Amino acid sequence: MAKVDIPTFKLNNEKEIPALGYGTWLGLDEKTNFITEDIPKMMDALSNAIDIGYRNIDTAHLYRVEPGVGEVINRKIKEGVIKRENVYVTSKIWHQYHRETDVEVSVRASLRRLNLAYLDLILIHWPMSITEDGVDEKIDYLETWRGCESVLEKGLVKAIGVSNFNIEQMKRLVTNCKVVPASLQIELNLNLGQNELVEFCHANGIIVVAYSPFGTMVPSRQTPNSPEPKLNNPTMLEIAKKHDKTVTQITLRYLFQRGIVSIPKTVTKSRVLENAQIFDFTLDENDMNTLAEFDNGYRTVRPLFWQEFANYPFDKLPGLGQMEIPLSLRKWKNGAKLDID
Ligand code: NDP
Repeated sequence: MAKVDIPTFKLNNEKEIPALGYGTWLGLDEKTNFITEDIPKMMDALSNAIDIGYRNIDTAHLYRVEPGVGEVINRKIKEGVIKRENVYVTSKIWHQYHRETDVEVSVRASLRRLNLAYLDLILIHWPMSITEDGVDEKIDYLETWRGCESVLEKGLVKAIGVSNFNIEQMKRLVTNCKVVPASLQIELNLNLGQNELVEFCHANGIIVVAYSPFGTMVPSRQTPNSPEPKLNNPTMLEIAKKHDKTVTQITLRYLFQRGIVSIPKTVTKSRVLENAQIFDFTLDENDMNTLAEFDNGYRTVRPLFWQEFANYPFDKLPGLGQMEIPLSLRKWKNGAKLDID
């Protein structure tokens, strides 16, 4: 079996995070329901990922997959493929658990669903706080952060961080915290370079993790107006040919050379390997500069239905009013407290 050796970046808690991880968000269908029927495929792909050398797994309470993810991790530990201390597991706190004391409830529930004793990293998934019924709780994320500092102190998690925070929110958090976030997880890809935010994080010792690293490059994410590069973009194909790699590998390598961790999602076995085979070549300065030119600020993930809520982190599109939040992002069977199945 092919194996990959994935390098690590050092976190500000002196631990290491592998520079490439496996993402477990399976997406929403046209009716905004979760694609839960892909869970068995994801579990197979994750099992394969661990076999070939992935040691970083990204999940979340929201994704409905924690029991399956935990089952695979525990099986691999039992089989002797990994030790718990050698795999980096991240989960996230959803919108309805932003009160200081609810953070622990959420973390303990994730641990129970994953059947793990601790998490390597817990993230506040978004800065907004919204109830299951769609009510804006307007809880300050500094309160939620105090809850994170508390679960860190109790040893339920080894590191704490945030996701989808903008630069002003990061600055305010860093200035007003006891524990500086270990990591910020944001959308990052060729269209969305986020240079200022990445620079701020790196200057403050905060590891940046790229979600949706392919942006709208892959067919499942394309819309009629989505920008280049697509998989058949001539510039991308040329760079890929020069290095005997694929366009997606060039994309992931570009992020790695910017000092960024990527967590691509795939349920396709061949792509699990392809996405990890990016550590045996180097993009030169010309390649890096050419790739940087695709940055146009385009967001693949732009949840406009949250834009009227307190602490929404992105630019607002005017004139939309309050849109309805999809039910699947508010309520689900194992969404409440300690429910597990
Ligand atoms: P990705 O950029 O990882 O794209 C996933 C899509 O790309 C799937 O359709 C997959 O298809 C396809 N794909 C994967 N590898 C290849 C390849 N080598 N060639 C061609 N197509 C490929 O987007 P995601 O939005 O899923 O982001 C990745 C992870 O980031 C998520 O799984 C989740 O863990 C995290 N995330 C976090 C968010 C947050 O708010 N913090 C928001 C969004 C994601 P297939 O599976 O069929 O192979």
